Amino acid sequence: MVIQNCQKCGRLFSSENNQKFCERCRENDEDLFKLVREYIYDNPNASIPEVSEETEVPEKKILKFLREGKLEIKEGSGFMLDCERCGTAITTGRFCNKCAMEMEKEFKSAFGMDKKDDKKDKRNNRSHGMHIKK
Ligand SMILES: [Zn+2]
Ligand SMILES: [Zn+2]
Repeated sequence: MVIQNCQKCGRLFSSENNQKFCERCRENDEDLFKLVREYIYDNPNASIPEVSEETEVPEKKILKFLREGKLEIKEGSGFMLDCERCGTAITTGRFCNKCAMEMEKEFKSAFGMDKKDDKKDKRNNRSHGMHIKK
């Protein structure tokens, strides 16, 4: 065990396994997120285990950032996320665009929100169809 300065806040801490950051900094999500984001910015093709190793941010946390949509992965990088609904590969968040749209639709129809709009549209179309110009 080595006593050293945290590379983030400068606080002295006892480092195990050459950790660069003190416990407090390692547990601050916002700081972790910045570390991960900066690392990915510099190394867009890094995989999650690589990022985790370099930033000392647990893989679970990195995945959490991705699920929360805080981080976005570049296509073709080592990062893999899949839509929780259909399993399609996605770059950020929990669902692919298609599922997000379908879910929004389902949500709206469950509350009768788009039915009204439908009726209105049909009525409008009909009246347009009935209108005969000479
Ligand atoms: Zn610190
Ligand atoms: Zn999907």
